[in-house]
Amino acid sequence: MAAEVREKGFWTKYDMKLQNPEKTIYHEMGHLQDYAKNLKELDVKTRKITKAGKKHRIKGVDHVSNRWGGLTYDGFKDLFDKNPKEFQKRFPDLYEFLTNQTTQQTAGKVSWYAQTSIGEFIADVYAELVSGAKLPDDVMALYKKCNGPMLAA
Ligand SMILES: [Zn+2]
Repeated sequence: MAAEVREKGFWTKYDMKLQNPEKTIYHEMGHLQDYAKNLKELDVKTRKITKAGKKHRIKGVDHVSNRWGGLTYDGFKDLFDKNPKEFQKRFPDLYEFLTNQTTQQTAGKVSWYAQTSIGEFIADVYAELVSGAKLPDDVMALYKKCNGPMLAA
């Protein structure tokens, strides 16, 4: 199955191969560890408590989607293509991740999917680490910069 392709971006055409089941499970574990490490703090940043005590999304940066949104998710690619300025305002780190060529090259050493989202980059790197893979220094540096979860010793 051919993956979705970005027109003016840095990826071309990739065929998705069926991943082995262990990798898929490790990938999902990576998301869980990442949520455990980062979700609460980012969710608090994204929401505020109103006087009525109701949670309510604030305008400006959506910290949760900034980390876990991605081009393969509903609406993201559309906004990215049609209104990049608005995309950048709402998801500044994701925008930087998607448009910085060095970052894209680094993420591309892991997988095409890792290039579509900070959260997917983290989950894919985590899966490689759990599988015992040694990853290039720039990949690990980006992973640390993104506050990716470290393996339990
Ligand atoms: Zn994922």
